[in-house]
Amino acid sequence: MEEQFAKLDIRKDENIVYKRTNLLVDRPLSYCPGCGHGTVHRMLMETLEEMGIQGNTIGVSPVGCSVLAYDFLDIDMLGAAHGRAPALATAIKRMWPDHFVFTYQGDGDLAAIGTAETIHACNRGENFTMIFINNGIYGMTGGQMAPTTLPNMRSSTSPYGRDVAIMGHPLKMTELIAQLPGTYYVTRQAVHTPSHVRKTKKALRKAFENQKNNTGISFVEVVSNCNSGWKMTPVQSNKWMEENMFPFFPLGDIKVDGKLVEKKEAVAKE
Ligand code: SF4
Repeated sequence: MEEQFAKLDIRKDENIVYKRTNLLVDRPLSYCPGCGHGTVHRMLMETLEEMGIQGNTIGVSPVGCSVLAYDFLDIDMLGAAHGRAPALATAIKRMWPDHFVFTYQGDGDLAAIGTAETIHACNRGENFTMIFINNGIYGMTGGQMAPTTLPNMRSSTSPYGRDVAIMGHPLKMTELIAQLPGTYYVTRQAVHTPSHVRKTKKALRKAFENQKNNTGISFVEVVSNCNSGWKMTPVQSNKWMEENMFPFFPLGDIKVDGKLVEKKEAVAKE
């Protein structure tokens, strides 16, 4: 099988088994090789294209590694001040309720400086989609401790590991906002294997479908790697993520159709 694929010339159209979406701009991404952002971008654009809503969708990009998302996604995009994406998305959606609106934010933007905007938008039940990339660290600024940094996890500002007695506990933002009446769909996914990529795409589809019904916030967290900030190779970082991030931030639906999902996997372990 490997030999068969080794002979394929991927420059020939007939050998391309899966064509990329036209909504990703053909330019090099600014993300580190192996980072999960690029995969989420692709799943997001494939979802919009398959739904046929790309001309009717407005995204809001954050401050953080994905600050340049508007350079890569070929749809209408606006850049928000640090942490203010949910406030901007609120204004856009209220002005153009017939448009699909989403925010795309990392943990520094959504769960640190933007905590208030996130919680109040979720509590108000605004009708847009929030996409939250959680890699447990501030990637863009050099790997400092984030609200989502795990207990004992090393970062440039917690070089001996996060001591919860001094630095506090990691913030489980997704579990927290699931408690708010304005959230309708809350899920946590990943993109490090093909099956997880498919589940993330399904979650994104559901989140955008919900906007048609004016249901309130649909919130899709993607637990992702930051191989540069974690000082690991991409392969090592995915393994570390499975062994350390997933037990603390368990994958799966937390709230569906406005109701909390009762299952053991959704209870985060310390
Ligand atoms: S610093 Fe981390 S999150 Fe940012 S692009 Fe690099 S690997 Fe991805």
